[in-house]
Amino acid sequence: MKEKQIQSFRKTLIDWYSANRRDLPWRKTKNPYHIWVSEVMLQQTQVNTVLPFYPKFLNAFPDLKHLADADLQDVLKIWEGMGYYARSRNLHKAAGIVMNQYAGIIPDRWKTFRELPGVGDYIAAAVLSMAFGKPYPVVDGNVKRVLSRLTLIEAPVNKSSSTKHFQETAKEMLDKENPGTYNQALMELGAMICRPKRPLCGTCPVQAVCLAYLSDRVAEFPKKIKRQPTPQYRIAVGIVFKNGQVLITRRKLEGLLGGLWEFPGGKIRDGERAEAACIREIQEEVHLKIKIDSYLCRVKHAYTHFKILMDVFCCSYVSGRVKLNGPVDHRWIKLDKLKNYPLPRANHKFIPQLKQYTASANSRNYDKPDDAVLRTKLTPVQYKVTQEEGTEPPFQNEYWDNKMPGIYVEVVSGEPLFISLDKFDSGTGWPSFTKPLKPENIIEKEDRHLFTVPTEVRSRHGDSHLGHVFPDGPEPTGLRYCINSASLRFIHKKDLEKEGYGEYLKLFEGEQ
Ligand code: SF4
Repeated sequence: MKEKQIQSFRKTLIDWYSANRRDLPWRKTKNPYHIWVSEVMLQQTQVNTVLPFYPKFLNAFPDLKHLADADLQDVLKIWEGMGYYARSRNLHKAAGIVMNQYAGIIPDRWKTFRELPGVGDYIAAAVLSMAFGKPYPVVDGNVKRVLSRLTLIEAPVNKSSSTKHFQETAKEMLDKENPGTYNQALMELGAMICRPKRPLCGTCPVQAVCLAYLSDRVAEFPKKIKRQPTPQYRIAVGIVFKNGQVLITRRKLEGLLGGLWEFPGGKIRDGERAEAACIREIQEEVHLKIKIDSYLCRVKHAYTHFKILMDVFCCSYVSGRVKLNGPVDHRWIKLDKLKNYPLPRANHKFIPQLKQYTASANSRNYDKPDDAVLRTKLTPVQYKVTQEEGTEPPFQNEYWDNKMPGIYVEVVSGEPLFISLDKFDSGTGWPSFTKPLKPENIIEKEDRHLFTVPTEVRSRHGDSHLGHVFPDGPEPTGLRYCINSASLRFIHKKDLEKEGYGEYLKLFEGEQ
């Protein structure tokens, strides 16, 4: 672009921004600390997510001194839910350095400010231009996209070797008289008009100088290199109960989710069952022997470079003393104290189910199922089909063939004695109950398998929640059956003979 065009571009952009900018709290201040906080938050996080966190953070730590004096755990707690926790740890550390080395005054020189923890080129340019009017151009994803379209930059935006090119172009275009406003205007244009998909070229204030628009090549820019698909890891997590308390551990301060608290667990190995991984991970991580009581739920979560599929189990402490291998701290706490600890978002996702679980376990006298009572109060089985065809959450995932015809069956009253299923084809899988089925619970008969339902399963989950079938076996227990509709029957004891299963009546010898 020629200098005259660039000048016109700057003016048009700033005029548009002045008239159209969003009313955001950090745009009403020149306080370098406030601007710094907002820019750190806005890195990797969308404006709408940041909006409630920004005032909360400034309320808790109104100035640099408050932040520097604060306990890191309190800082993490306020940051909880926004992700990328290294940002808050670095900001906390940088505040301490500014207090100690620069008498609490945020440096306005590039070299000094840029050396602070967590301050990269983007944060330095943003804070120095917006708070101090220094002529540094910001280069973030929005800016790269806009510049690439405006000037037809062929360099891929997601390749690190392209950064220099974008920085040079950004520097050339920068309004040095008004760098703070210009930088914000350019980012605002990227966020509101020159969006990644379907840019609003028709209403764009700078379309007259946009080379992509003028040459009808908007769809070609920005150029990108193809990335490898994001890997996904399977994780097993255990909520270990002991004397009414649960175990949480603290991650080491460095690295992903550093300093946060979580329930222990870890990666499921290839071919390993989720339950087995949970038991093994807890043994390795905290040296406790536990037993699994129940499957709680499955949680999906995405981080920047990978995704996780997390199976969560409720467990009971069996033996051992906590000895940490990996985590740096641990606590046994009552569940209602969990809110005092900063937890990763993936852990927050299953807290509602955990609350429900503890409430229902308490109401069913969870620890002392009365088998005798259950066995003598058998009533005819009633059940209902809740869904035909396909699956529904929480079982809808990549391990599940969504096209698989199936039904969900909830037992709504009565106590089924047997569940009769067609024999599974190889790879179809076995029913999985909250307690592993013992061999005597499984009976093979011609083309069918017959399962007795362990009484503790009935007692722990009530009439409507017995178990489910997964298609590929190594899955945790759950709350429902999902199987081919033709393959399932519930058979009451009194009907066994009539149904040709009389020989199994001996299983109930001694019962009333
Ligand atoms: Fe982006 Fe279209 Fe505006 Fe060009 S005209 S800057 S492509 S919105």
